[in-house]
Amino acid sequence: MRKPVYLDYAATTPVDPAVADQMADCLTRDGRFANPASRSHLYGWQAEEAVERARLQVAELINAEGREVIWTSGATEADNLALKGVMQAAGSGHLVVSAIEHKAVLDTAGWLEQQGFDVTRVKPDQSGRVAVEQVARALREDTRLVSVMHVNNEVGTVNDVAAIGALCREQGVLFHVDAVQSVGRLPIDVAAMQIDLLALSAHKMYGPKGIGALYIRRGLTPRPQAQIHGGGHEQGYRSGTLATHQCVGMGAAAELARQHLECEPARVAELRDRLWDGIRDLPGVQLNGHPTARACGHLNVGFAGQDGEALMLALRELAVATGSACTSASMEPSFVLRAMGVPDALAHASLRFSLGRYTTEEEIEFAIGHIRQVVTSLSQAAV
Ligand SMILES: *Cc1c(COP(=O)(O)O)cnc(C)c1O
Repeated sequence: MRKPVYLDYAATTPVDPAVADQMADCLTRDGRFANPASRSHLYGWQAEEAVERARLQVAELINAEGREVIWTSGATEADNLALKGVMQAAGSGHLVVSAIEHKAVLDTAGWLEQQGFDVTRVKPDQSGRVAVEQVARALREDTRLVSVMHVNNEVGTVNDVAAIGALCREQGVLFHVDAVQSVGRLPIDVAAMQIDLLALSAHKMYGPKGIGALYIRRGLTPRPQAQIHGGGHEQGYRSGTLATHQCVGMGAAAELARQHLECEPARVAELRDRLWDGIRDLPGVQLNGHPTARACGHLNVGFAGQDGEALMLALRELAVATGSACTSASMEPSFVLRAMGVPDALAHASLRFSLGRYTTEEEIEFAIGHIRQVVTSLSQAAV
């Protein structure tokens, strides 16, 4: 059987073969297998050197310093550390998040609310953009932290994080950015964008699953509280033996992302636009998200009048997502599309196509033909 065309790069990406090679060098007896925290022998020093080189590779991608990058198990943990760490260190106060953050931020904010912190959820506009004016309006005297994602995972809309960063810095409020979907797709400069904390995940940028990082600006006050204790690794922010192969994988992926930044996003965006041009004239089709302020790989499409589940099942030659992978287990329409004002019926009939490094022209031509054929036959069946 021929495998479906993978168009779900926003859910995860395959590991780049060059990254996998470097990871493999950190596992077995003849590689850098040792505990990077072992200070008493050559094996440990070599592992530590590999981990620190990887840390610099990640730092360079976002214009940070190595010591500002803290390894975590992924972006979910990085978001948890940012939100809980800052709010718990502050002891009390107010948190502002956008209403269409990833669940890693929203559920953490909900938990903090249960612990007695105040939370405001800022609504996006119809395109999924969180306006700096809305964030400004949400700020209070006791606001400690603002968390707004750079690129939304479901619709790909890009937020003006530099403007929100400037606002927060001016108001003396810390600013956290979930940059999982933008890293490697858009330039990120934590200094220029005045970002205090920033979450990354390796597996959304052609690195392995199970590792991420939190950028914590040097000298940040209050100092975020650790969430995992034991051993005092990672400057006390996050204990646990570092997974050398994972760190090296994320570092290698970051280095590749930086090299590809000049050409890859443009190539992917061109294929993405070709896909849209190939299906936009179908009856009832509409784009969810911002027409231009959108990350290169994202295309979220509503098929009015169709049943989303039936559509997905019929599109068996394509691996795509309904709404977001995280909510597709439940039958609730996407909360992101809902917050953008998309009617429930259309949200149910929306699919997310996401393209990436290995997407080819042939795959896109094939996808266009398949979608046209399926949507046309389902529409005829419905009449
Ligand atoms: C995938 C994703 C996460 C979670 O990252 P993990 O490394 O899988 O925990 C967080 N935020 C956004 C925007 C994501 O797309």
